[in-house]
Amino acid sequence: MRMLIMGPPGAGKGTQGKQVAQEFGIPEISTGAIFRSNVANQTELGKIVSAIMEKGELVPDSVTVDLVADRLAQPDTEPGFLLDGFPRTIPQAEALDTILADLGVQLDAVLSLVVSGETLIQRMLKRAEIEGRADDNEETIRRRFEVYTAETEPLLALYRERGILVEVDGLGEVAEVNQRIVAALTK
Ligand code: AMP
Repeated sequence: MRMLIMGPPGAGKGTQGKQVAQEFGIPEISTGAIFRSNVANQTELGKIVSAIMEKGELVPDSVTVDLVADRLAQPDTEPGFLLDGFPRTIPQAEALDTILADLGVQLDAVLSLVVSGETLIQRMLKRAEIEGRADDNEETIRRRFEVYTAETEPLLALYRERGILVEVDGLGEVAEVNQRIVAALTK
């Protein structure tokens, strides 16, 4: 299973992505998590991305694409993978097509978690309290929504056209949403 998990900020991509990856026995690759760990460890990459992330902006495509290309070349992705938070722009989606074509593989599914606006803002403010993420203050949250709408949401139409978009209602308990996802993916 080679898949993406998509959805607006706070839709539960990280939580569901980890579980679904585990259920399918494939690695979960979260570009946001990789960036955060680089920021925490103060690596060269971390220094480049920390200010960008704090503002809710996107890390440049060139940086992100190289990171994903390297990660997908690792042997643990052979049985499949779940990408969380990538691609986020049309150029990233095009780059992913090239990476996968070079590897001789294709995407099987793009899982879209559907959750509406106000619910998400509330969830994210709650998560900010629990996790203390630097990019979870109100201004950044608002900016991340704008960026999502402008840059990332258009990707859904692209994958819908390809017939691999699987939309799942993301509202509800974690276990409940997980059941919906597994049911939709195994259909
Ligand atoms: P996430 O954990 O997916 O919400 O990502 C957190 C932050 O990391 C985003 O707001 C961006 O600043 C950065 N980021 C993660 N994935 C990408 C990506 N594919 N392209 C650009 N920036 C990204």
